[in-house]
Parts: sequence; C-alpha cells; structure tokens
Amino acid sequence: MIKTSDIVIIGGGIHGASLAFNLAREKAGKIILLEKKYMASGPTAKSSAMIRPLFNELVYIQLVNASTKMFEHWGDFVGGSAGFVQNGFLRITDSLDNEALAGDLELAKSQGVNFKIIPNNELKDYAPNGNFDEKEIAVLFPEGGYADPYLTTLSLASAAKRLGAEIIEGVSVTGIKVSKGRINTIQTDVGLISTRTVINCAGAWSDRIAAYAGIQLPIEVHRIPICLFRRPLEMNIENPVYSDGTYGVYLRKADENIFRSGLFGSNRDPVDSDRYDETLSENQLNLFRKPLDQRFSVMKKTYFTGGFSAIYDMTPDGHPIIGKIPEVDGFWCDCGWSGNGFASSPAIGRGLAAEIMGRESNIDISYFSWPRKKGVSIRRN
Ligand SMILES: Cc1cc2nc3c(=O)[nH]c(=O)nc-3n(C[C@H](O)[C@H](O)[C@H](O)COP(=O)(O)OP(=O)(O)OC[C@H]3O[C@@H](n4cnc5c(N)ncnc54)[C@H](O)[C@@H]3O)c2cc1C
Repeated sequence: MIKTSDIVIIGGGIHGASLAFNLAREKAGKIILLEKKYMASGPTAKSSAMIRPLFNELVYIQLVNASTKMFEHWGDFVGGSAGFVQNGFLRITDSLDNEALAGDLELAKSQGVNFKIIPNNELKDYAPNGNFDEKEIAVLFPEGGYADPYLTTLSLASAAKRLGAEIIEGVSVTGIKVSKGRINTIQTDVGLISTRTVINCAGAWSDRIAAYAGIQLPIEVHRIPICLFRRPLEMNIENPVYSDGTYGVYLRKADENIFRSGLFGSNRDPVDSDRYDETLSENQLNLFRKPLDQRFSVMKKTYFTGGFSAIYDMTPDGHPIIGKIPEVDGFWCDCGWSGNGFASSPAIGRGLAAEIMGRESNIDISYFSWPRKKGVSIRRN
C-alpha cells in the first residue's frame, strides 16, 4: 500500500524528534517520522548532553542560548521533562585566548551570555578537591548544565504526536525515488510513502540516506569512549560540570553516586555505524585515569564502574550539514553534528522548521548550508 505524507523525517534521534515537534507546531500538514529501531536508539541516548554557550562561532552561541531558554521552560514549551540540571558549566583553562579556551568570551558577551571568570585563588571554591597549577583559571557559565537525552527525545516525540505527527518505529528507509530532480517516493521495508519533502536526520547513517537520493555527503563515523566512576565520598556530585580544557576531559554527574566522564574532541577511530565494538578497552580507560587522577587526587581511590563506546557522525570541518540540498528538490538535511548536536537541537528544530515552511529562521543557520559557503572555518571545540 502507498501512504502519502507532506513531509517525511528520517531518524528518531534528538534532531528528528525536535523537527517533528516544530513542524507539527507549524501545522506543516501530514508529518511522518520513520525510525528503524526505536526513538533515541542511536547515539542520542548515549550523549553526555551538556549545554554550554562557549564557542568561537556566533551561530552556536545563539543556538545554545535559545535552546537553554527552552530547556528552562520545557514543561510549558514541550510538556514532560528534559531532565535539565542547571548546576553550571566550569571550563578550566590556562589561558583565555580563544583557541586555548575553545571559545570567544567577547562574542559570548555580545550575545548576553552570563559568565564569570574565576581567578586561580578561588578555583577551590568551585572544585574543592581539584589540584591546580598556578597559571590555571576557569570560566563559569551559571546557566550551563546537562539534560537527559532520552527524556528530551521522548518528550519531543510525544508532543509531536499530540500535535498530529505520526511517529513510526521499527521501520527502516531502504531507498528514495527521485523523479525529474525532485523527491518522489520513500521506500521502506514495509512499503512506500509518496512525498515531496524529506528531511535526513539519520545521524551516523545520514550519508547512506543521502546516497539513496544520489547525493554524496562526507560523513565519517568515529568511535568515542565514555567512562563511569564511583563518586569519591569527598566530591560533591551537585557541582557544575567540570570541563577540563587543560587535560581535555570532562566530568559530570550521571547518577546519585556515579560520575560520567568523556574526552574532548574525537579520536580518529573510524567504524561502521551498524557494527562497532560498543565496549570499552583497557587502553581507552587509561586515557581517562591519568588526567582525572591528576586533577582530582581523590579520584585515584575510586573505582571504575563501567563504560561504553558511542559514535560521532563527523564532517570534515566538524560542522553539521543543515538546510535544503540544491541537487535534489525537496531533500533537506539536519545531520553531521560531529559530537556537538544535543545542546542546539531545540533551537535548530525551530529554525529549520521555519525554513521548510518557506520563512527565514530566527537564527541565521546558513553557516551550515551544503555545499559550504566560503569562510567556514574548522571547528576546534
Ligand atoms: C558519547 C556522546 C557524548 C555527547 N555529548 C554531547 C554533549 O555533551 N553536548 C552536545 O551538544 N552534544 C553531545 N553529543 C552529540 C549529540 O548527542 C549528537 O550530535 C546528537 O545526539 C545526534 O542526534 P541525531 O538525531 O542527529 O542522530 P542519532 O542520534 O544518530 O539519530 C539518528 C537516528 O536515525 C535512525 N536511522 C538511521 N538509518 C535509518 C533508516 N534507514 N531508516 C530509519 N531510521 C534510521 C537511527 O536508528 C537513529 O535513531 C554527544 C554524543 C555522544 C555519542
């Protein structure tokens, strides 16, 4: 049987869910979201989901600022909970230079971002068990924090459903028919859907979805490790997120007595998104032990409670691919977030939905258009 739909969203991670919600709010007609497993079954559920407006590019600061306001009022804006914990975000650094800090404080200030520079002699007030070099300082973003990526995705999907969108789990897209340069039909493992608009939110599988429509996207999938540790009794779990720019590691609460830790950036560890080793090796664990033990001596006395490997959908410049793809009429992308897509997701869903409806996004997201415009630099944070 052939179904018809005004819009088909492919992928039920945080971006597909945000877009379904925002398009349904826009009354964009019949909207179908297709997810091959279940909502948030991909990298989204494994995300550290930290939220902080510290970037060198204006667009990310604007997106994270706007998203933070949505997280603060999630119940009213979406309904349900995003599990947002706003204990602040502390970036430890030995320099306020944009490159060392991986962010531009002047740009942040120009956007009304609230932050406080913490001098060396006050660092212990924020990280009482930390060992600090005399050159180190920190920047505290009091409105920063983290959310629960699983709850966030599910609450967006529920809200989209309440507004009339159809969320279909357990159905895989297997092909896309393009006719006379325009999207015509989506093939799935259970039948066809006739549509003129498709949005590729398939994250680490988005290059395969694009290839179905004859479009090449430069997405590489890389494996990245996450470690969990028992909280040392001396350490307060309600502290801000510790984002350690000196050692390139972060630490935040995962549960009442568990810390979760991840590494900055992405190590080159290319894998196949359908079959990669999701466990954590001893070598990977060692990447965490040294920097954490150096920063917090009490971490030496705590045990490793487990860990896992997840994946990032990396583009060559580390920026996502967002917007209409000119090669095929009706083909849109919101993918390639390169390990950085959670915090911006509520605001990007709103902006992209407006563009799909033929209006301008309230935040200029053309920096992410594909093919890239001139002047897009490589993301370093
Ligand atoms: C360990 C880790 C830590 C992170 N930490 C942060 C952080 O602190 N802050 C931050 O902002 N970002 C962070 N990120 C990045 C952020 O979580 C991701 O960018 C974001 O979750 C990606 O969401 P997505 O919806 O684009 O893709 P995904 O979550 O990859 O969702 C894509 C979905 O598409 C589905 N799909 C694929 N192929 C098909 C098909 N053929 N048919 C139907 N469905 C299909 C998949 O099953 C999947 O559910 C982190 C990511 C990871 C992995």
